Amino acid sequence: MAEALYEPYAEVLSVAQSNKDDLEALFDPEQGFAPRMRKICRDQILAYEETGEYSDELELMRLEENTWALLQAVMPARKTEQSVLNSPRDLLQQNPYTPTSTIAQAIMGASPLLTELVVIREWLQETAPAPSHPEATTGYWKFTKHSVMQALRTGAGSRDGLVKEMDPDAVNREDGRSLAADDASYEKNLAQALYGMVRAGRLDEAIELCRRAHQPWRAVSIRGSLFFHWKAISNENDFEDEEDADMWSGNRNRKLWKSSCTRAALNPALPDYDRVLYAALAPSPQTSLILKSACRTWEDHLWAQVSIMCEEKEMMELLRLGGSFWEGGLAAVEKGVRSVSQETVEDEEEQWEKEVHQALDGLKSVHVEDGPAADHPFHFSQLNIILDRSSYLLDIFANGLQNGSYDVVAYEYAPMCRFFAHLCLYLKMIDIPVPPNSAVIILEHYLQVLEAAGQRDLIAMYAGALGENAINRYAEFLVSLELASDPGERRLALTRARDHGLDQDSVATATAEMSMNKAFEILPPLKGPLPSVIGLQPPPPDPETFLLRSIEWTIFSETTYDRALEQANHILRYFLASGRIQLAQKLLSLLPVEISSIAEPEEQATEYLHYRQFFNIWENLERVTECQALEVPKMNRETRNSWLADYKLLIDQARELITKLLTSEWLVSDVETAGVDARRRALIRIRQIYVPELIIRLHFTLFNSRHHFPDNLNLALKLSNIVADSRYKLYEDFNNQSGRRLGDYLEAPPAPSSTYRHFMMSKHSKLRLALLRLSLTFSLIATSRAQAWQEDPPSAAATKACQILNKTLPGLVFFPGAANYTSDNFHYAATSTQNSTCTVEPLTNEDVSAILKIVGQEDVRSPFAVKGGGHTSNVGHSSTTGVMISLVKFDQITANDPSTTVTLGPAATWDQVYAKLEPLNLTVVGGRIPGVGVGGLILGGGYSWFTDQYGLALDNVVSYDLVLPNGTFVRVTDETEPDLSFALKGGYHNFGIVTSFTVKSHPMNGIWGGTLSFSANDSELVFSAVEQFSANNTDPKAVLTLTYNNGVMGPSLVANVVYDGPVEQPPAVFEEILNLPLTGNTAKARTLTDFTLGEFQFLVVPQTGFTQHVIPTLHYTVPIMRTMKIQVDAAVAKAIAEERSIATVGMNCEPYINDFAHSVDSAYPHSPSRPVTPGNPLSFYNDVADREYFEQLIWEMSEAIHAVVIQEGQGLPDDIHYPNYALADTPVELIYGENLPRLREIKERVDPTDVMGLSRGFKI
Ligand SMILES: Cc1cc2nc3c(=O)[nH]c(=O)nc-3n(C[C@H](O)[C@H](O)[C@H](O)COP(=O)(O)OP(=O)(O)OC[C@H]3O[C@@H](n4cnc5c(N)ncnc54)[C@H](O)[C@@H]3O)c2cc1C
Repeated sequence: MAEALYEPYAEVLSVAQSNKDDLEALFDPEQGFAPRMRKICRDQILAYEETGEYSDELELMRLEENTWALLQAVMPARKTEQSVLNSPRDLLQQNPYTPTSTIAQAIMGASPLLTELVVIREWLQETAPAPSHPEATTGYWKFTKHSVMQALRTGAGSRDGLVKEMDPDAVNREDGRSLAADDASYEKNLAQALYGMVRAGRLDEAIELCRRAHQPWRAVSIRGSLFFHWKAISNENDFEDEEDADMWSGNRNRKLWKSSCTRAALNPALPDYDRVLYAALAPSPQTSLILKSACRTWEDHLWAQVSIMCEEKEMMELLRLGGSFWEGGLAAVEKGVRSVSQETVEDEEEQWEKEVHQALDGLKSVHVEDGPAADHPFHFSQLNIILDRSSYLLDIFANGLQNGSYDVVAYEYAPMCRFFAHLCLYLKMIDIPVPPNSAVIILEHYLQVLEAAGQRDLIAMYAGALGENAINRYAEFLVSLELASDPGERRLALTRARDHGLDQDSVATATAEMSMNKAFEILPPLKGPLPSVIGLQPPPPDPETFLLRSIEWTIFSETTYDRALEQANHILRYFLASGRIQLAQKLLSLLPVEISSIAEPEEQATEYLHYRQFFNIWENLERVTECQALEVPKMNRETRNSWLADYKLLIDQARELITKLLTSEWLVSDVETAGVDARRRALIRIRQIYVPELIIRLHFTLFNSRHHFPDNLNLALKLSNIVADSRYKLYEDFNNQSGRRLGDYLEAPPAPSSTYRHFMMSKHSKLRLALLRLSLTFSLIATSRAQAWQEDPPSAAATKACQILNKTLPGLVFFPGAANYTSDNFHYAATSTQNSTCTVEPLTNEDVSAILKIVGQEDVRSPFAVKGGGHTSNVGHSSTTGVMISLVKFDQITANDPSTTVTLGPAATWDQVYAKLEPLNLTVVGGRIPGVGVGGLILGGGYSWFTDQYGLALDNVVSYDLVLPNGTFVRVTDETEPDLSFALKGGYHNFGIVTSFTVKSHPMNGIWGGTLSFSANDSELVFSAVEQFSANNTDPKAVLTLTYNNGVMGPSLVANVVYDGPVEQPPAVFEEILNLPLTGNTAKARTLTDFTLGEFQFLVVPQTGFTQHVIPTLHYTVPIMRTMKIQVDAAVAKAIAEERSIATVGMNCEPYINDFAHSVDSAYPHSPSRPVTPGNPLSFYNDVADREYFEQLIWEMSEAIHAVVIQEGQGLPDDIHYPNYALADTPVELIYGENLPRLREIKERVDPTDVMGLSRGFKI
């Protein structure tokens, strides 16, 4: 309820502050600050009283009202110059008949403390409880009188025990006799009422009451307390008329009166109430005890003490002066005024002041019968205000606030903060020094109270009162505004700063800065592995939104745009360096256009332009992707031409823009090269994220569009030259690709010399390897003709076939020199690449049929190859020196209706498939790494993240569109062609060419997954966790793979974990491995696309030399994995010692638990009765000429590991070998096992002339 007071207080403060140098106005008894505060309290008290509730609040409010009343009384006395009166000594020397009241006035004027005490006494009287009034009486002792009169009349004695006389002393005099009960009770009530009136300073009312009670002598004794006053002889000239001048009042012999009162107060024979009344009339140290016995409240005690001190001081001074006729008669006049040195006067005054302080100090702990105790904060405050210790008081309260001594939810907390805040401000206004720190603390807390009470409109005003801190404090308040508040509300709050005299720009700048700092305190620092910028990003958590919206403060007004520029850069830097590209885009969209034209500071202006440049490119690349998606198979010529023109324009723009960025020291042109400050670190991190990203995106944009624009392949090659160009040092941006820290990068030796060999041998940086791979591979595309490994010499048959094909399928056949020729022969591994005689890109089943017929024609019989995604690791399996049948145009991805199946072209890649199906909440069983083709992976098996749930990719095929070796088209299903359906499940191109696969779809609602990195030194711990997982995992949704690599960059050990489903928290099944010491962890809830592209993009980069094989295993045990590691390390050591072009040798462990559980009738035998899961030893190397060396190395390594697998009881020598990993030399018996006879029989049937035998691969 008291919350309603914030505004009235603020209003009073606002008026007072406008009068802040006008003491008179501030002390005005009606409109001054304290009286108005008092009035607010009073109104509130009345409101509380009306409700009858809020007793605690009511009491607090009363105390506050009293405190303002005290301030109202005491501050003017303390701060206003008192008119200089004649000293009492001068007055008496001039006129010994000067009336006592005039002398007393002069005594008071000579002592500021006494003046204050008198004022305080008046305050205490004014605020005293209203005195009670006894019932009116019709006569003096009327019941007793009746008995006395009767006794007199009858001569008999008075009634038993009653007094016999009516004089006031009768009770005391007549031993043991008393008044009639009603009179006695009346007497008591009367004395108490009179005491109450004296306590309230209402002497006239008391005198009137005595009159009405028929006790004039009591009126006399009350009047006796008044000093003798007679203007005519007082040297006072301000009397208004003569009559007034001649009037005298007060007690001419006060001294005598006082001693009588004192005696009466000390007289034990008198009733207590009478004694108290006398003690109140003549307060003195002697009567102190009796007076204090009547004190109930703390205020009573204070009043008693102050009254005693005032009375004593005046009496003491009068006595010390001497020379007053009215105090000492003629004798005193004759003696004259005593002369005392000024020094003595001052010493005595000082001594008295000490005594006063001591006495008042005693009230700190006085026992109180009624009302709030002595140590109540308001009593404590009042006492310190009286003692002129406001600084001490404020310090104590501020300390308490700072130490958290007060309970912020207690009902008194807010009112006390409010009171003290206004006290500080009031004291400041009336020029009473206030301890600055304490004032700030108190105001700060009051601001918090206002904030908590939602009093936003008042914040600026009180913050403004903080002086130097005002800007920051108001800024703090603005920072605290809820995110929910709309920009309009925030802008209004900012403009209020100006209304209260704060510089709006400074407040805006401080607010922006504080908001950013606050957000940065919570947000993760920019370190650790580089973020993925692919796929959907999660919605921003509050601190990111907070950071984003901090820009509002500096863009509200044009005058802070320069600050906005710097701030925008800072935020953009953070968002981009943490991969939050959409937030960075959002920030840019909020900024006013004028920011772009700010030229100074140059460094900031350039940085900002660089961000704009980047987003221009980013948006352009998005448009490329959108445009790409617009391509549909059945476009009419005009639409296609128009689409092609748009597509080309966008690609050209992207290439130009990216090339410009890559060759222009983007972001670091203005950055000092020396030193490693945070800004530089962030900028380099941004380059490390986006430069490789842009290069890869541009590369794939060019590469993927090569069919439409063959020249784009050459442009992709040019890109590789830029990447390799030492002037641009783009290789440095490939640093940190695996999460290495900038520190590592900066500590690395100087950039390598131009020779790749030297470059490669430096073990310091993974970036070099990444760059090496990229640039070498790009270069290799250009030089592949010269370097490609030639197994079969070009044959006349192939030449013939190509000629016929060229005639039969004009426009679809390509020869060396054509870009399509290069891309058709291109493989993920250069070691799987050969130079064909020609390539052909069929568009339809009929085209495929024609091709097979031509190559198989009796008079031709040309060697050929069939290429899907080109990821085989075996040379010749999808490469040839004869006719390359590139299925590149069969790349469709179609979700069918009903959505239980999806139809896929063999040249589509799995990442494309996932991205297309994800919006439909669908997925299929497919490859785990981007870039791998649909065709080979399905025809050879297909291990997926979902294999434990749904089987291999081939277990999920519903139908195949197949062109048989004789050119016949057939749709193969289990029902229509059971043999072919069986044969194609593992049979690759032994039975014809598949032009599309219809596969089962499965629900996809996101996954939880990522990469966990470990130190290779912890391999035993990791192996043990994987062994446990391999043996005990029963949840088919959980999949884990482990990879140990070693090579020129040293060893690395990583696990990939995936859990199918929208799980936010790490699934318990991975608990053990997650609890190991991790050096990196990217696992989180995400989309499958984000995971696939985010975690494995580094593998997308084409490889120079790539060889792999398979080791079938039932479970992974520690000894098996230990052997793998030993074998990998040994192979690396061997290759290095023998100076082979090794990059990496590694081993992937794939502990599937259920991979054969969904097996269907298939050529690749994977019966649940004999389960195994693949292990995948592999190597990457940099010289195609080393292919056979590494094939041998991997073969030997696999043999050694397989021996331990068998020894460990986890396998048999004739366990089935997974063909998609198997080395070309693997005997087909180990691939097809017992299925071989049936396959041979089918083959004989569908391909009697062995057309498919003209291609290489695992031949039946
Ligand atoms: C980086 C990388 C990641 C891999 N990830 C996985 C994985 O997660 N799971 C997994 O099981 N395997 C994986 N593999 C192995 C992969 O499955 C095989 O290399 C697969 O054969 C590649 O298929 P492709 O279409 O890309 O290759 P290609 O080289 O084009 O084809 C491979 C074989 O299939 C034949 N073929 C392709 N399409 C057709 C067709 N339409 N009709 C007839 N024959 C055809 C080719 O003639 C060739 O013999 C990966 C390989 C690499 C290099």
